[in-house]
Amino acid sequence: MDDMRLALILNAISPAIGGVLVRGEKGTAKSTAVRALTDVLPPVEVIAGCRFSCSPAAPDPECPDGPHPAGGPAQSRPARLVELPVGATEDRLTGSLDVGRALTEGVTSFQPGLLAAAHRGVLYVDEVNLLHDHLVDLLLDAAALGTSYVERDGVSVRHAARFLLVGTMNPEEGELRPQLLDRFGLTVEAVAPRDPATRAEVVRRRLGFDADPAAFTARFAGREAALAAAIAAAQARLPAVVLGDGELERIAAVCARFEVDGLRADIVIARTAAAHAAWHGRGAVNREDIRVAALLALPHRRRRNPFDAPGLDEQQLDEALGDDQGPDGEPDPQPPGQGPEDGGGAASDGPAQPADSAPPDSALADSTPAGEQQQAAPARGGAGGESVAASGATFRARRLEVPGKGRGAAGRRSRAYTDSGATVGVRQHRQQVRDLHVNATLIASAPHQLRRGRTGPGLILETGDLRERRREGRESNLVLFVVDASGSMAASRRMEAVKGAVLSLLLDAYQRRDKVGLISFRGTGAELLLPPTSSADAAARRLATMPTGGRTPLAAGLTEAYATLRREKLRDPLRRPLLVVVTDGRHNAGGEPGPPAGLLRRDGIAAVVVDCESGPVRLGLAIGLARVLGADCVDVAGLSAGGSASTSADRRPGGELSAGGLADSVRAYREVA
Ligand SMILES: [Zn+2]
Repeated sequence: MDDMRLALILNAISPAIGGVLVRGEKGTAKSTAVRALTDVLPPVEVIAGCRFSCSPAAPDPECPDGPHPAGGPAQSRPARLVELPVGATEDRLTGSLDVGRALTEGVTSFQPGLLAAAHRGVLYVDEVNLLHDHLVDLLLDAAALGTSYVERDGVSVRHAARFLLVGTMNPEEGELRPQLLDRFGLTVEAVAPRDPATRAEVVRRRLGFDADPAAFTARFAGREAALAAAIAAAQARLPAVVLGDGELERIAAVCARFEVDGLRADIVIARTAAAHAAWHGRGAVNREDIRVAALLALPHRRRRNPFDAPGLDEQQLDEALGDDQGPDGEPDPQPPGQGPEDGGGAASDGPAQPADSAPPDSALADSTPAGEQQQAAPARGGAGGESVAASGATFRARRLEVPGKGRGAAGRRSRAYTDSGATVGVRQHRQQVRDLHVNATLIASAPHQLRRGRTGPGLILETGDLRERRREGRESNLVLFVVDASGSMAASRRMEAVKGAVLSLLLDAYQRRDKVGLISFRGTGAELLLPPTSSADAAARRLATMPTGGRTPLAAGLTEAYATLRREKLRDPLRRPLLVVVTDGRHNAGGEPGPPAGLLRRDGIAAVVVDCESGPVRLGLAIGLARVLGADCVDVAGLSAGGSASTSADRRPGGELSAGGLADSVRAYREVA
């Protein structure tokens, strides 16, 4: 966890770096380390009674609780850790009109949100990749400007919101959009310690903490105090740290080498390197500071596809850094003496020791997931004529949509009633008012004021007056792929085109925040290669290694899809599925596909059949399947956003199938296949 500690400490020294994104699998104690950070942050001096944490030395002139008279009562309190829950509303984040006071007392007052609470502390978002885009935008704007603006419902407020932003995510559950990744100053990969002694020590500390938290805390209090002092000393040193022209050019060379867009990376590296120099008690930034900063600031900024492995090529980095003025590889000065030297930690595995000055050797070096490379190039022997096709070219996919309106998690695919998005109407409130439409509520109450005996300022409201917004936006869905991987698909590079098409749809699903799942059928049955997940990445890997060969048990594929969707319905009832069946409609093993297709249709599953039949003689079987499923049928070219979309409505394979051909096509499908 050394990279992570170092990144947190550097941000504590220089919040202008812009925060840390911690990527890691489950069980890497990400949250524990973040929580332990607040224990070592210097305490904060605030004006007593100010809900916006104004500093007595320099109160915010626009503070909504101000103006604060000079020399008013002040107090010292620990730096706060404010946690933003993934399901938070915009009101909760930015604050809102105090509706109760406004309506009963006729006073416009602002109820501060989490951004105000986090001012001069840490704002922590666990699983930031699951946060609604809209909230992420608000959050990152505030983080970038150091100010939060709220301008709605008759409230117009701005207040300072400078905080250390820390997010964690499990990449297996879905990636962040690249433009959002870029807004985090640094990223680190948290990996579970592989060294048995370290693992044992972490567990021992955790058990020690659980057994007697007070004694444990007391034992580590001395170390925390020392670390807090070291951070405060580095903060004091930072303004005097010099960044020379030579080092500035070095930073530019590194950013150019890794093809980073924009200047943000340069700025973040410069700030991080300066903080690193201050941490090590140096008055000027050197090559090593820049190297460490680049390893933390570049991995998520270099141009890459969502499916590329994370991390940075260190050899390439060293080439770009060029030679040092001094002898290369000279050992760095040791960390400042006041930092505790042994492997102490706060509760469980907190940052209670200054990170090592040596280049990070664990997390970033390991960040190409072990075994990934081998997995991506499987050497599957010719057992039963099996082969693994490469993936063909990808394209920008057009949006496939679930008809009707859902209520699922926010996303970019199908129409839905959502918590954010455009207001499309109002409704009388039901139980708890969550999204009050103030105008509509006032209008509803207006005619009754006289009868209710209103005399003073302030309206007399009754619950029946309250009106809520109805909003409409887009939801994300579960896109479940059922892919024919039988021997016939191996013919004439057909599988390559199919893999390219499915990969394109996966990229699209990733951008639309969908969950995805993958089923293949071949030989004697179907296999759920990937249970529904938010990781399009994982789906792409399973697709890449998916073997082809054997007979065509289409019915088994549909039956597996039916079972999978039933399970998901229980697990995530609001998420509407979209079934994508990639097939030529042929089947020659495992029974008739009609019955499972009928079951899917009866459950109201929205489906699309991607017809991969090619060649001069076409049977049009996929269209028959589509009809039984009540699905659209498109060919591979029709999936492309730019390509000529051809659906079942206009598709007439070989010109043979007529408009009234439903019965014919179904019969043909059953008989010929
Ligand atoms: Zn204030």
